[in-house]
Amino acid sequence: MTSLDAPGPDGPAHEGLRPVDVLSVTAVTDVTPSVRRVLLAGAPDAVAAAGPTVNLLVPRVGDAEPRWPRIQRDGRIVWPEGSHGIALRSYTARRQDAVAGELEIDFVLHGDGPAAAWAAAAAPGALLAVAGAASLAERPASWLLLVGDETALPAISRLLAAAGPGTTGVAFLEVAGPEEEQPLTAPPGIEIRWLHRDGTPPGESTLLVDAVAALDRPAGDDVFAWVGAESAAVRTIRADLRGRWGLTRAQHHAIGYWRRGRAMAPAG
Ligand SMILES: Cc1cc2nc3c(=O)[nH]c(=O)nc-3n(C[C@H](O)[C@H](O)[C@H](O)COP(=O)(O)OP(=O)(O)OC[C@H]3O[C@@H](n4cnc5c(N)ncnc54)[C@H](O)[C@@H]3O)c2cc1C
Repeated sequence: MTSLDAPGPDGPAHEGLRPVDVLSVTAVTDVTPSVRRVLLAGAPDAVAAAGPTVNLLVPRVGDAEPRWPRIQRDGRIVWPEGSHGIALRSYTARRQDAVAGELEIDFVLHGDGPAAAWAAAAAPGALLAVAGAASLAERPASWLLLVGDETALPAISRLLAAAGPGTTGVAFLEVAGPEEEQPLTAPPGIEIRWLHRDGTPPGESTLLVDAVAALDRPAGDDVFAWVGAESAAVRTIRADLRGRWGLTRAQHHAIGYWRRGRAMAPAG
């Protein structure tokens, strides 16, 4: 992943800077009341490299000529001097088609923050750039536990689609209500359980924590747990999986996807 801490673009330390990969919006679809799917077009190489987890460079709403940063040889981002209004945020490429030069990203329209505001205003022709990517840190296992809220649905949909047909397990998916459920392709042995907040604000529900707490660890060691949701919930679930379930580091990946009441610093 790229990181934030490279100084300004001048001087010998920044020779060999390359431009970021800029993509343009070609279509916008509302998948559910709070999830907006943005289809982006870009060069095949840029699309192939932009995921599954991707660092997005999000311009201010209405900025038709963003002052993009550039990328150092070691992958670090070099920001332009002065005000540029570009925010770095982590998202998931729900779908990448390098041949067609298409990248699909589902944005939760949570109302606040540069990325959510950009997505709410996105229209064909709007620009977005990508600057580094990472894996979903999944590992193959015959039994999977997948836990996430709306922000992790793109990642979980990829994990479910990639799971072998004989995989068993359970997915706990927290959303606002039935209108936020999305069709998912999953092996028949993975039970999908939608959990509805029913009016509780995102980040204040204990649905995911409670669902995991009520689940017994399956027998055997061929188990992998993947968790992506609000940070405090993830911390509690991680502790449960490490403590009560005794999962090793290799048997789980639990990462805060957003922080209640705080802007999200990108993964470094
Ligand atoms: C690896 C990774 C992959 C991710 N993939 C996706 C993805 O595919 N789709 C997606 O929508 N999100 C995804 N996220 C989450 C996304 O990065 C955060 O929600 C991020 O905070 C959004 O940035 P922002 O500029 O809109 O808001 P920020 O400036 O970060 O935050 C502004 C305010 O909004 C609040 N906020 C942020 N997110 C939410 C939310 N979901 N619900 C309610 N309040 C919120 C914050 O608490 C803060 O008060 C991912 C995160 C990670 C780490």
